[in-house]
Amino acid sequence: MSKTLFQKIADRELPAEIVYEDDRAVAFRDINPQAPTHVLVIPRKPITRPDEIGEEDEALVGHLFVVARKVAEQDGLTDYRLVMNNGAGAGQSVFHIHLHVLGGRALQWPPG
Ligand code: 5GP
Repeated sequence: MSKTLFQKIADRELPAEIVYEDDRAVAFRDINPQAPTHVLVIPRKPITRPDEIGEEDEALVGHLFVVARKVAEQDGLTDYRLVMNNGAGAGQSVFHIHLHVLGGRALQWPPG
């Protein structure tokens, strides 16, 4: 199976500003940032979309939230938004799950 775009970033086959990594997750800055901080937190495991998260992935997905908190702390954020889009109709464009960490400006709700 060919690697996803985000696997290639995690494996450093494509460039990105990686801000955190460990054995299970990688976090890097979004190429088209929507806020002063816009980081994507991904599992190294290439799960295609949130719908495909299995019970065996519960700890892994929980870990993404812990990584997101560390990334936010690194950028000095106290208030920030975490987003994971499921499917093209909801805005998903890369089919390797990723948690968006957005902050550093006022964020509106609902997002539109
Ligand atoms: P989605 O729309 O799937 O929720 O989010 C995908 C995100 O990946 C988008 O915010 C987009 O800007 C970002 N992205 C797409 N390609 C690349 C890339 O090659 N490098 C980085 N750093 N971000 C990317």
